This record gives sequence, structure tokens and C-alpha cells, in this order.
Amino acid sequence: MTAKVVVAGAGISGLSAAWDLLRAGADVHVLEPIDRAGGVIGSWKVGGYHFENGPNAIQGRAPAIRTLCLDVGMGDQIIDADEEFRERYLYYKGGLRALPRTLGGFMRSRLFTRPQKLRALLEPCVRKSGSDHEETVAEFFGRRVGRGVTMSWVDVVVSGVFAGNPNRLGIRSAFPELAQMEREHGSILKAMRSRATDRLRDDGSTGTSPLWSLQGGMSSLTDRLAEQLGDRIHYGRKLAKVSRSANGGLRLVAEGPDGTEEIDAHRLILAVGAPTAGILVGPLAPDVADLLFEVEYSPLVVAQAGFDKGAVPGLPAGFGYLIPRCMRMRTLGWTFASQLFPQRAPEGKVSLSGFVGGNLDPHAIELAEELIEHLLMGELALALGQRKLPHPEVFRVVRWPDRLPQYNVGHLRRMDAVRRLLEMEVPEVVLAGNWINGISVDACVSRGREAAQEVLDALPGSSPESVA
Ligand SMILES: Cc1cc2nc3c(=O)[nH]c(=O)nc-3n(C[C@H](O)[C@H](O)[C@H](O)COP(=O)(O)OP(=O)(O)OC[C@H]3O[C@@H](n4cnc5c(N)ncnc54)[C@H](O)[C@@H]3O)c2cc1C
Repeated sequence: MTAKVVVAGAGISGLSAAWDLLRAGADVHVLEPIDRAGGVIGSWKVGGYHFENGPNAIQGRAPAIRTLCLDVGMGDQIIDADEEFRERYLYYKGGLRALPRTLGGFMRSRLFTRPQKLRALLEPCVRKSGSDHEETVAEFFGRRVGRGVTMSWVDVVVSGVFAGNPNRLGIRSAFPELAQMEREHGSILKAMRSRATDRLRDDGSTGTSPLWSLQGGMSSLTDRLAEQLGDRIHYGRKLAKVSRSANGGLRLVAEGPDGTEEIDAHRLILAVGAPTAGILVGPLAPDVADLLFEVEYSPLVVAQAGFDKGAVPGLPAGFGYLIPRCMRMRTLGWTFASQLFPQRAPEGKVSLSGFVGGNLDPHAIELAEELIEHLLMGELALALGQRKLPHPEVFRVVRWPDRLPQYNVGHLRRMDAVRRLLEMEVPEVVLAGNWINGISVDACVSRGREAAQEVLDALPGSSPESVA
């Protein structure tokens, strides 16, 4: 196969697409503006600490990324989070309280009042939405379980995944599985019960959602993919322009420190953010670009902190905690990475990551590092019931202004239109990225590999089975 395929973006979406194309024998080239692969995925190691700049762990069975790890020979690197530390907390009304994981736990929890619990228990009796109009996440949960539970529990689930606004995120777009549960079972509780029964019957599992990572950190996967792609990745080169060539293919312009280069390609996979994809396809498909410019992003600040264990007394055994917005604190939450994965901190130390910003506090991204440290440490001390915490041994801030796409109301509909229009107007361009089918690493891998298969199916002389 001689057809040239260019992938723009060496994040996990672009890497998974490029790796499949390489294995299938395609002449694939990856353009990446910076000097390393991985995009949001990146690990930072200092003094025996190991921090993640982006994703910390993979939640759930996540079949796409698990399969990719096995395919690249990293199955033995998978590490499961310590079961003992799986508890998640909510900072609510002056203290950290465990988020209930079962119905019994919910009934015993001091997070909710008696009327709130009784209202939530009526969920199976609430009629399903009869409207075609997509509800926001807040509307959906307000209707199904009541406003009280929505304001605390649902609010933090939303900020934990999207750093988003429950009054803007769409239930079908952001949490399609929940919308499907209501559609098929008429109730979330009934659907969960039915799934638990099926699982017990099928494989005897209790359905606890696994939480896992990789021994060398998340970037060991992107490093492995990059290593196998070798000089197929062109670092320091960004895709700057896409147009049609005289022979009907694509003419690309790549920009780098040493000038620009023209590349003729049969197919292009855009594995970049939605606004960049919009700018690039704009000249060929302006209507697609307009839809891509509508995708909103939430800015997020990640602060990495390393402490002596003794310096953070009161740190509960668990994954971390989140803070509902109604508590009026700026911290979104903290994860306790080294409790889940002990190899993330030296003996006797802990590594923690704090988050500020998000859709409801977008200007936090502009705060100076000292201010971020001051506010995060002050609010962490409060949550742990301490007057003050000492300076962490290590502290570093990572800013992500435009990496968390918001699956707001209408997002799925917009993405369907994008796919349809692109196929009609510029079928040579295929899209991948965390703004298409889901924001998780698993969803990115799944879309990346699907994009590779779409390209292979369309290339002359290719066999659709070439990608296993
Ligand atoms: C702080 C944070 C924590 C997260 N935690 C989790 C988690 O715990 N679990 C989970 O499953 N998910 C998590 N996610 C989500 C997940 O990590 C991301 O959705 C995913 O990694 C995005 O991958 P991507 O390849 O689509 O995009 P990116 O990683 O953003 O990669 C895009 C790439 O395109 C390149 N690029 C940009 N412009 C151009 C151009 N013009 N030409 C060529 N290349 C270009 C960029 O340099 C970049 O390398 C988290 C996200 C963030 C931000």
C-alpha cells in the first residue's frame, strides 16, 4: 500500500490511529508541534515522586485501552488500585464524608437529609422523559432523584469528569449510558439492579468498577506507541493548512522551526482539539468548521504536591475527594494518587493532585502559582480539619486551557451533523479526539482505532481485516 496517510496530533487519539495504520502497512506520518508525544498524557518524576499531568487512572473495564495495552505487549504493566483505598469522599458541611457506593450506604449516609433520601428512593416511580428535547444533566437528575441529591452528589460527579456545568452539559451527550438506562428500563435504579443481576448470573462478579493504571505511569503507553512509530512522528511540526491538490487528493502545509513543507496525502486524520480541526477544515467545509467552533472547552489547573506523610494528618484512606460547588470553595477536589498506586511516591511520602478552574471558575487558570498554592493548601487544610499545612516538599502547577471539551446539550446532534457533512464534502478527512465519542482515554483509543479502520477501508488496495 503506497497511499500516504497523515495524522495530525500525537495525543493518545492520534497515536492509537497511527499505530494501527502502521501495523496495516500504511505509509503513515504523524505531525506533532511539540517535542514529545502523549498530548495531555504525561508523567513528571522528581525526587522519587511520580505525578501525572493528565489522566491518573483508568476507570472501569475500558476494553479499548486494555486491549491496546495488551496489543503493544504491556499487559504485565497493568496495576490495579488498592481495593482498600477505593473510597471517594465529598467535602460537605465542614467535613469529608464517604460517597455511598450502595443503596444501603446511601440510606445510612449523613450526606443527605431524610426527605432527600425518600425523594431519591421514588426514582423508579418517576416517569421517563417523553420529550425529544435533550435535558441538561441538572434537569435530568433533578427530575429523577430530586434537587437536593443533584446539588451535592451529581454536581461532583460532573465536575470530576468534565470540570463542567451541570446546567449546560446534556444528559444524552455527556452521559449517554444513563439516558439509555432511563429509555430502556424507565429508571436508573431498576437498570442498575437488572445489570447487577445479569452480571452475577453471567460471571458471578459483583460489578465493582475496576480502577487501574500502568506501572511506569500513563505515559509509558504513549511512549511505547511513539517508540514503535519511530521517525514516522515528525516532532516540532504542526499542520497549518489543508487544501485540495490538483489530482483531487489533499495538499497539506506543515510548519516547523525550519520553515514550511508541503505534503500530498490521500487521507488525513485530524486528532487535534475541535477548534483547531475547525480552522483546518474551514476552507474546504465551512459548515463543518462552524459546528466545530461551537464545542466549548473548560480550562483546568492541576497542582501536584508531594508531602511527608506526617505533614498531612487526617488524610483519609481513599481515592480522593470532590467539593460540590454549593460549598463555595474554589478547589474542585484532590486525588490521593500514591494511596491508589504506592509506586507514585517514595517510602513515607504521599503524592496528591489538586484541581481548580473548570467551567464555573474559568479565570482560575490565570492565577499566579503562589496564589494557586495558597488557596489549594488553605482549603486542603480545612478539609482535613487542620489549621494550616506546611509547604509541600514538591509543588508544581500544570495549566490546561483547552483540553476538556464540554458535551453540552446538542453536542451529539452536532457531532452527527459533522460526520455527515464531512463525509459528503471532504471524505478524505477523518476526525478523532476526545470531543467526539467520549472524553475518557478509553473513548479516545476506541475512536482513534475506529478512525484508522475507516481510513484503511477507503484506501486503494487495502483489506478491511488488516487491523486486528
Ligand atoms: C487534567 C486531566 C485529567 C484527566 N484525567 C483522566 C483520567 O483520570 N482518566 C481518563 O480516562 N481520562 C482523563 N482525562 C481525559 C483524557 O486524558 C483526554 O481526553 C485524552 O488524553 C485526550 O487525548 P487526545 O489525543 O484526544 O488529545 P490531546 O492529548 O490533547 O492531544 C492532541 C495533540 O494534538 C497536537 N496538536 C495540536 N495542534 C496541532 C496541529 N495544528 N497539528 C498537529 N498536531 C497538533 C497537540 O500538541 C497534542 O499532542 C483527563 C484530562 C485532563 C485534561
